[in-house]
Order: sequence, then structure tokens, then C-alpha cells
Amino acid sequence: MAHKAGFVSIIGKPNVGKSTLMNRILGQHLSIVSAKAQTTRHRIKGILNAEDYQIVFSDTPGLLDPHYLLHQKMMDFVDAALEDADAVLFITDLAEQYMNEALVARLKKIKVPVVVVINKVDQSGIDEINKLVHGWKKHLQPHAVIPASAINDFNTTVVRDTLLEVLPESPAFFPKDDVSDASLRFFTAEFIREKIFMHYRDEIPYASTVDIEAFKEGEQQVHISAVIYVERDSQKGILIGKKGSSIKRVGTEARHDIESFLGKKVFLELFVKVEKDWRKHENKLRRFGYSS
Ligand code: GDP
Ligand code: MG
Repeated sequence: MAHKAGFVSIIGKPNVGKSTLMNRILGQHLSIVSAKAQTTRHRIKGILNAEDYQIVFSDTPGLLDPHYLLHQKMMDFVDAALEDADAVLFITDLAEQYMNEALVARLKKIKVPVVVVINKVDQSGIDEINKLVHGWKKHLQPHAVIPASAINDFNTTVVRDTLLEVLPESPAFFPKDDVSDASLRFFTAEFIREKIFMHYRDEIPYASTVDIEAFKEGEQQVHISAVIYVERDSQKGILIGKKGSSIKRVGTEARHDIESFLGKKVFLELFVKVEKDWRKHENKLRRFGYSS
């Protein structure tokens, strides 16, 4: 079999069992990012590695969140992020209905293959499960509908194998075992971006991208220089804040996370620069969270 690799975006309401299912699928194979969830366009949840494939699981902030539904701009962003994925894993449960037209309409817009998992089937009888499976198939026509029970590890390998059906032939995106320099830079940028998502509102997080300019490992300390690019001068001002107070908070919190991730002291320098309309030029790179 040719090597397959790709990004799978996990979506679904809170509490349907996304984390439990992920943990089951990743099992012992979780690599690189077990400790932290990153808030980005694709926040990486975990990477499943095998000899002939690599599945990068991530999720997309905001989808199906009614707060965001009010903001078309956000939704456009989410749509773009979903189209960057190679497949979407939509996790639902017994309580959620395919009759929800707004939800089905949103899901139908996704252009990449969608795999539906109806989780928590341990809580129901076969008739109800069959009805839900058929309902989702009929209304959404996804690549597959899989009843599962993450907690009992029922059908979780079926979910994995079904995703592999739709992933493209591709070399791996991340090193399969080592944490390489490239991935250290990547996760460093993600920690910084996470803080931007936490502390700024409106378009700021989406207009920002982080570039790690220098990553020098010394004996005692890692010296990191990072540039946050925004699209406009006004965004730069907001990001920096009064007397630099806002950017300082980002730097301090990101540094703590990076230090615990690397297990080393970190000296973190942050710069903010304006790069007009960077989003228009960086579509490809964004997919990987790299900007250099
Ligand atoms: P998330 O918010 O979508 O990530 O959901 P979690 O994975 O945190 O799970 C939410 C709750 O549902 C937890 O209490 C889980 O133990 C429970 N749960 C997850 N999967 C199953 C399942 O297959 N069956 C049952 N009965 N409960 C489950
Ligand atoms: Mg969760």
C-alpha cells in the first residue's frame, strides 16, 4: 500500500465524546502533542502514526457554536479551515437529530469527505440506532455513518479504517517518532497563537500569524525570536496594547507553556509586524501552521 497522510478535522457539540473517541483511536500511538491542545485554525489533537500512514487529528474552533453562527466572517473562516482538511469527522450522539436542518445544511457545505460517528450507542437499543444511522445517511449522504461506543472501544478501529479510505496518498507531514526541530518551531508558534486566541477578540486572532525567526538551543536556555504578523496598523496597536501590556501577557504565558513543553528555560522575544493582506498569500503555508 502506498503511504497515506492527511488532516482530519473533528467537529461536534461538546460532550458527545470527541476526546474519548480520539484517545481510543490514538491509543498508545499518540505522538508529539499529547500534552496540549492548541487553538489555531487547526489545533492539533494528536497524530496517529503507522508504517504506512499518518493521520493528523485536529479540530476547528467555533463550528456549530451558535455564538459564531451569528458572524458570517467567522463561519467563512471555519469553512476555509474545513476545506483545508482532507476529511471531516463529525461526532454526534443519540440525542442529536439529523432533523436539525441548520446543522445538516452546514455539514452539507463541507466539500471534503465527511464521516459521521454516532457515539454512545451503548445507551440505546438497536432500533433507535438503526433509525439514526439511516436518518443521517439519507439527510446528509456522508462517506459513512458509523455507530460507535468510544467508552467501550466499540467500532473505533472501524472509524480509523474508514478515515484511511478517504485520505490521500502522501508522505507524512510530521516526523514519525522524533520531535524534530521543525516540529519544535511549529509547536512554539502554536503556543503563541493559542494565547492570541485567548486574549484578543473579533478579527485579531484570525488576522495574526506567528513566524519563528530564530530557535537557538543552548545548554541552559532556548532563545526564541518570534514575529506576529498582522494585516493592518490598527491591529498591531491592539495586539501590543497600552505600553506593551497586552503583548507582554501573551509573551509571558506562551513562555511558561513552551518551557514546560521543552523542559527547559526559554528566552522569548516577540515582535509585531504588519504584513498587508498576508492571508491572501499564505493559504498553502497556513495549512501547516507554518509561515516560513
Ligand atoms: P467531548 O466534549 O466531545 O470531548 O466529550 P468527552 O469525550 O469529554 O465525553 C463526554 C462524556 O461522555 C464523558 O463523561 C465520557 O465519559 C462520556 N462518553 C464518551 N463516550 C461515551 C460512550 O461511548 N458511551 C457513554 N455512555 N458515554 C461516553
Ligand atoms: Mg473534549
